[in-house]
Amino acid sequence: MIIILKPECQPKGPEAEGLLVHLNQYPDVKVKFVEMQGETRALTEIHLIGSTNTIPTETLEHLPGVERVVRVSSKYRQIGRHDIALADVGFNYQGLEFNQDSLHIFAGPCAVDTPANTEALFRFLQSVGVSTARMGAYKPRTSPYDFQGHGPACLPWVFELAGKHGIKVIAMEVLKESHIEEITSALAEAGNPTGVMMQIGTRNAQNFELLKAVGSQQEFPVLYKRGMGLTLEESLNACEYIASEGNRKIIFCLRGAKTQLGLPHRNLVDFIHVPVVKRLTRLPVCVDPSHAVGSKSQGPDGIMDIFHATAQGIVAGANMLLVECHPDPKTALCDAQQSLTFDEFITLMQDVNMIRDLYLKRVEAVKSAGLRSLTR
Ligand code: PEP
Ligand code: MN
Repeated sequence: MIIILKPECQPKGPEAEGLLVHLNQYPDVKVKFVEMQGETRALTEIHLIGSTNTIPTETLEHLPGVERVVRVSSKYRQIGRHDIALADVGFNYQGLEFNQDSLHIFAGPCAVDTPANTEALFRFLQSVGVSTARMGAYKPRTSPYDFQGHGPACLPWVFELAGKHGIKVIAMEVLKESHIEEITSALAEAGNPTGVMMQIGTRNAQNFELLKAVGSQQEFPVLYKRGMGLTLEESLNACEYIASEGNRKIIFCLRGAKTQLGLPHRNLVDFIHVPVVKRLTRLPVCVDPSHAVGSKSQGPDGIMDIFHATAQGIVAGANMLLVECHPDPKTALCDAQQSLTFDEFITLMQDVNMIRDLYLKRVEAVKSAGLRSLTR
């Protein structure tokens, strides 16, 4: 059960105190305060954990300071939507709004390689008006003999170059807790010229200790990539681990599922789950067509499968795109076969703009047909 406080009520204010006194009569129920800064307002929720069946909703609703009481039927206690208005969800990071209505494109190489390539990428992104990048310093590779990333050694110059070219956020994978510390201190030493979205890769999708580690810090948002062989439910529960430690700044990323049924693609594209995650949770949803498709194959019409997969995600309402792009893909140290050139990326952006417009028109069409209020 969740009690949502009125916007003007503080978590330590008299109304909250009064509620706590009232709740004392239910000794089996644990009370947890959850505070969130939504886009339009701060939100304080009181989560009641335990046997809440006997607590009458109506009594609570009439107590001072209570905006709404929600019985949580789903297991996604923290990330679940619970019918809370869309305006209340999402987060701001580095001056950018991330929510279920926004769209951000994160582009860059699979792995950081040279300062020259990194600067070329940032300069290019800046020239096309993109201030969000992706790149890995720590790479979990299938073979121990493949390039594992430059690690902490590259962080100072990556962050400095990002700041120089107006890059506000870099999505960067972390494989263990010490990577969070390395990134935090490298950013601080560089004077925080940019921000980092901590990426949990598909291989760590159920590394619960790592999930708790990114969840127990509040500074960096988390990009959680669905486990390649996990059900949606299992991956959403993994996000619940992050959120239940206190960090609600989470983006859920679909990146394809590993099955022979997806061949010849690297994974089976699962972007039809965009609306599913958006209705089950409050999380913005990202799609990663690069790792889903895994190649730059084109159809007879000339359109790359990566573009088609992107379009499927965007037309379904995705809020973020994670795409691999490199100044000279054939020299990329990781995932060269799926990295777009700058020219290809420009064409992809044009495609994304067209498809995004189409998505917005679709939303308008169902709204004017009166279908907007159908059960989520
Ligand atoms: C990545 O995005 O760099 C990556 C390794 O992807 P995934 O974890 O989805 O395989
Ligand atoms: Mn990659």
